[in-house]
Amino acid sequence: MRSLSGRTVDLLIIGGGIIGAGIARDAALRGLSVALVEQEDFASGTTSRPTRLIHGGLRYLELFDFALVRGDMREREILLRIAPHLVFPLPFLLPLYRPSLWYQAKLRIGMQLYDILSLDKSLPKRRWLGREETLAAEPALDPEGLQGAWRFYDAQVPLVERLVIENVVDAATHGALVLNHARANSYLRDGDRVGGAVVLDRMAGVELALRGRLTVNATGPWLDRTIAPLRSGAKPLLRLTKGIHLVTPRATQQAHVLFARRDDRLFFVVPWLDASIVGTTDTDFDGDPAAAAATEEDVRYLREEARRAFPNAPFDEIFFTWAGVRALVREEGVSEGEVSRKHALYDHQRRDGVAGVLSVVGGKITAYRAIAEEVTDLAARKLGRDQRASTAEAMLPGADGSRARAIAALAASDPSLATPLCPHHHGVAAEIVHAVRHEWALTIGDALLRRTALGLAPCQGLDCVDAVAELMGRLLGWDAERRAREIAAYCREVEPMRRFSVK
Ligand SMILES: Cc1cc2nc3c(=O)[nH]c(=O)nc-3n(C[C@H](O)[C@H](O)[C@H](O)COP(=O)(O)OP(=O)(O)OC[C@H]3O[C@@H](n4cnc5c(N)ncnc54)[C@H](O)[C@@H]3O)c2cc1C
Repeated sequence: MRSLSGRTVDLLIIGGGIIGAGIARDAALRGLSVALVEQEDFASGTTSRPTRLIHGGLRYLELFDFALVRGDMREREILLRIAPHLVFPLPFLLPLYRPSLWYQAKLRIGMQLYDILSLDKSLPKRRWLGREETLAAEPALDPEGLQGAWRFYDAQVPLVERLVIENVVDAATHGALVLNHARANSYLRDGDRVGGAVVLDRMAGVELALRGRLTVNATGPWLDRTIAPLRSGAKPLLRLTKGIHLVTPRATQQAHVLFARRDDRLFFVVPWLDASIVGTTDTDFDGDPAAAAATEEDVRYLREEARRAFPNAPFDEIFFTWAGVRALVREEGVSEGEVSRKHALYDHQRRDGVAGVLSVVGGKITAYRAIAEEVTDLAARKLGRDQRASTAEAMLPGADGSRARAIAALAASDPSLATPLCPHHHGVAAEIVHAVRHEWALTIGDALLRRTALGLAPCQGLDCVDAVAELMGRLLGWDAERRAREIAAYCREVEPMRRFSVK
């Protein structure tokens, strides 16, 4: 960490969500010197609260956003190739109930377009399934009035947190200095030029002056807050909307795209790990993105709609929920669902007369690599460097099985690390040790929620939290009082997710 202070890097990136992590990797692979700072943990923001799909998004066809869908389909192919251990093909059903002729025609065209816009894809093409075939594939569907279903393919990233971590790991392997639990509190200014940021290392309790030839704000829904000192009084750049998901016992055999009876909105029921995800909602949000949580009304809406589609599925039981805040490019006079999901790149020299700082906002996880490439292209041009991106070809570090091998070797070297930590989950102690030693896991939440899948099990690791604190404490030098504080902090972290947990 000391090596960060007093050095000037080419690129200082503020925000360690998928966008910041993607930029750090791209820039480091091009040979730029990079520092990445994240106020909480990598992937702790919006990035760990999505539907976890890598998709073009049928919905955007309705908005005639063909370029967005085409770009996302191209990225879907790239991610299936460079991260085959994290991104998997996912077949969907789109069931139809007594549709009008107009509606049938509209969906047929939508399905054709979805295929046409991804002509070069490796995934199978759409297919119409009749009523019997649909019910055989998904017995949980309400049979009343069912006509059949479209089957089409997209992709899923079940552990999106690991997609972020692997981008950070690769950035660090290529020389990037990375720091989590470190908040950029103010900018270093030299007249009308930003020359980096003052960052509070919250673990060490010290402030660092990090100098960057160029500073990139990749703070997602926090952008209006983080950029405020440079554009006082200016109109907000973002429109924030909240979306929540329910995690329930496995409810269906297939992934489904459904239309809510109440307002005709599209939503998903998707198998995820050993559970199901139901989501999402889309409501305007005002406040600190860190405080976003599901409300009773959010939960009722999703539960009612999911029950309508699958009358006997176990939606009474909720393991936990998560809520995320979309950072959408501000557009006036449109409803939440109609705001474009396109990203935007702001050069504050042109916009606000302040040089040395760029901001990126919006976009989907699906498009993160292309967005990172666009930002790094601009940054490289501004820095007078001409290296090209290699992220469309370079595999992510875990793709060759090296992480799995490292964990297996750890477990082989010490049998106590080979045993599962939790009675409900297969995750072993060696995973936590690896996360602490090689992946910047500094809190129990970092280890359970964003390095391993232990905290994503129904019990969220609460039954083994003492053992995890003991293990991490040995590695990080925690005494009994610190262990108790870390356990309490973890319980506070998962509390908003567990407000509606029902068995
Ligand atoms: C409900 C919902 C469902 C979604 N589903 C999908 C989907 O299925 N597929 C898909 O492709 N996309 C989906 N998205 C979109 C996707 O999740 C986001 O576009 C993406 O995660 C944004 O990443 P980000 O890095 O910009 O933001 P974030 O992940 O929020 O990262 C920003 C980071 O900046 C940090 N930060 C803020 N201020 C500071 C500071 N001062 N100093 C240091 N760090 C700071 C924050 O802690 C945060 O970690 C969904 C979004 C939502 C809300």
